[in-house]
Amino acid sequence: MANKRMKIAILALQGSFAEHEKIMQRLGHETFEVRQASDWDKQKDGLIIPGGESTVMLKLLHELNLFEPIKKDIENGLPVYGTCAGLIILSKEVEDAKSPYDRFATMNISTCRNAYGRQMGSFAAIAPMKGIAEPVPMTFIRAPYIDKVGEGVEVLAEVDGHIVAARQGNQLVTAFHPELGEDTRIHELFASMLK
Ligand code: GLN
Repeated sequence: MANKRMKIAILALQGSFAEHEKIMQRLGHETFEVRQASDWDKQKDGLIIPGGESTVMLKLLHELNLFEPIKKDIENGLPVYGTCAGLIILSKEVEDAKSPYDRFATMNISTCRNAYGRQMGSFAAIAPMKGIAEPVPMTFIRAPYIDKVGEGVEVLAEVDGHIVAARQGNQLVTAFHPELGEDTRIHELFASMLK
């Protein structure tokens, strides 16, 4: 059975947003880029926060008046998928946050930023992931990992004893970048969370 066509907002301030758009379009969904406050008024079924540099993205989110409306919609149940920097921005607690700006902090997780060191943070792995039948190839780039999860958070994947994917209700996060490979299963998992 064909999936329903969804409309997905992609935060396009910085980072690997174009790659997320391509995958979602390949899966038959509609996407639009969020670059300024007026873009956020459009109807949407979900949001992707890409990887990039969380400090830069947070600064722009606040300066462009996107922070409050997006945070409110996530709190009200809008499905969101954060990769890497996106994971950091959704985390309640961050070690080495290095940003004076508030994060969305909507997800009950504690995250180590640049957790593997700046060089070591870039590597590839293959690991099982809950909800996906076969192991998933994972590309890490100056990646964070989740070191603690709180109530309501389901751990979906671990690499070398560190949590690299998790879900809390409407929020999905991965420390790795499925948008940089050919495997579309994580994006399909996110699409299945959209109403
Ligand atoms: N290290 C980056 C940060 O702190 C995240 C890296 C990424 O998104 N690939 O925002």
